[in-house]
Amino acid sequence: MTSLTTKEGEQSSVKRVAVVGAGVSGLAAAYKLKSHGFDVTVFEAEGRAGGKLRSVSHDGLIWDEGANTMTESEKEVQTLLDDLGIREKQQFPISQNKRYIVRNGSPVLIPTNPIALIKSNFLSAQSKFQIILEPYLWKDKRVSDDHTEESVGGFFQRHFGEEVVDYLIDPFVAGTSAGDPESLSMRHSFPDIWNIEKRFGSVISGAIKSKLSASKGKSGETKGSVEKGKRQHGSFSFHGGMQTLTDILCNQLEKDELKLNSKVLSLSYRQGGNSALENWSVSRVADDDKHSQSLSVDAVIMTAPLCNVKEMKITKRGTRFPLDFIPEVLYMPLSVIITTFKKENVKRPLEGFGVLVPSKEQKNGLKTLGTLFSSMMFPDRAPSDLYLYTTFVGGSRNKELAKASTDELKQIVTSDIRHLLGAEGEPTFVNHFYWSKAFPLYGRDYDSVIEAIENMEKNLPGFFYAGNHRGGLSVGKSIASGCKAAELVISYLESPSDQNTHHEG
Ligand SMILES: Cc1cc2nc3c(=O)[nH]c(=O)nc-3n(C[C@H](O)[C@H](O)[C@H](O)COP(=O)(O)OP(=O)(O)OC[C@H]3O[C@@H](n4cnc5c(N)ncnc54)[C@H](O)[C@@H]3O)c2cc1C
Repeated sequence: MTSLTTKEGEQSSVKRVAVVGAGVSGLAAAYKLKSHGFDVTVFEAEGRAGGKLRSVSHDGLIWDEGANTMTESEKEVQTLLDDLGIREKQQFPISQNKRYIVRNGSPVLIPTNPIALIKSNFLSAQSKFQIILEPYLWKDKRVSDDHTEESVGGFFQRHFGEEVVDYLIDPFVAGTSAGDPESLSMRHSFPDIWNIEKRFGSVISGAIKSKLSASKGKSGETKGSVEKGKRQHGSFSFHGGMQTLTDILCNQLEKDELKLNSKVLSLSYRQGGNSALENWSVSRVADDDKHSQSLSVDAVIMTAPLCNVKEMKITKRGTRFPLDFIPEVLYMPLSVIITTFKKENVKRPLEGFGVLVPSKEQKNGLKTLGTLFSSMMFPDRAPSDLYLYTTFVGGSRNKELAKASTDELKQIVTSDIRHLLGAEGEPTFVNHFYWSKAFPLYGRDYDSVIEAIENMEKNLPGFFYAGNHRGGLSVGKSIASGCKAAELVISYLESPSDQNTHHEG
């Protein structure tokens, strides 16, 4: 084993931190630590950074194979965008409030406010009443305060009935997590709504009360801050695609601070006592020389998916730290298919964000989870005579289909787009990207996953976990998770050394 650094033993006061994984959470953490004046090294197993942010530019087309848009509801995201000075690179979609869900084989505009909901025929009269009367009709089926295992489907069924689950919740969770309402844990998938029920009972009146009390606190708002508030709720991308964000974060690192093709294999915590300096040794395999190399650091932020963490060897003071308490996380497979069609061949194009397909609509022959109208949202993503669509297939609804061949998926996507938008003939271009583990499933036993993460952090001083396995799947939540871990590292390394041991259980 060769040491990457000769700094060991040197009297340097600069703290050194290793970040494992160059997805958006790891890169956001690294940026924060570097801005704070720490030495940072990011290790990435793949030959590219960005993780689930993956944009491609090809022949006049731009598409995303991972995340397509994000929001900035989290304050960490707002701060990051401001600090990076990349506001002018944000790209907001045209007509983003026009989103569709398939009903009886056809796309129907989703009502965006209560009046529109009452007026629309998207839901039956019975479901509309159930929504309006939810403050009185919701059923408290919580058997005890410990009722943490409830599914997303069960929760919304109690509050709004079956049709809302089938036609709103099911397509929404498929579109945002590739999961399904029965498998997903309510508490982990929608913690805010879960807490509203705990506080207020009714979701509708609780949401209104929370909104009112939040706006009371903001009574001194200026026009600018109202605009900012609106922006915080909207989705956006960046010119060139989502990867622009991770590319910019990478540019903040020096060449030797980002190590690509560097899969971390083992981590070793060497000493206890009252010195927190360079307690960790991080070993990685480097593709270029096939040797394992190690680096000494003061703390580690781990952002690799838990399935990868489980493969690592962690030792603590010379003894193997077993990772068998980490439960198996289920991951959802997903294929992303990009197609383009000549505009003249699309007979019923829709303006807006995209269309989601509820599971129930499979009976009408539809097999996709949903399609984003990518070039409608961002016209510079395709030449002016083409529509570019991004379609998702698989998830927990159709795990096997996610793995299908490009040819088979092309047929499926072409058939659904023909059905929904009247696209005639074959697409003029097709691209297929398969994610075997697109999203971790926040299943009904996800408590055990969070406990395992906390267990690692508690028993390994200076080890912090961030990323989409905790606190939310979205890009914004992943960034927030990375920034929070960076803050914890800062306070861990800057607290008097005798306090550092408090981290350990
Ligand atoms: C198809 C798809 C569409 C999505 N759409 C959206 C969307 O529109 N909006 C949204 O908000 N979110 C979306 N998401 C979710 C979001 O993109 C992710 O949850 C988020 O980007 C995860 O970031 P992360 O840093 O936690 O993890 P990742 O991006 O998974 O990064 C982890 C990194 O760790 C690396 N790694 C693993 N093992 C090791 C090791 N041993 N050593 C070193 N490195 C290692 C991996 O190679 C990877 O680069 C989507 C996800 C997918 C897959």
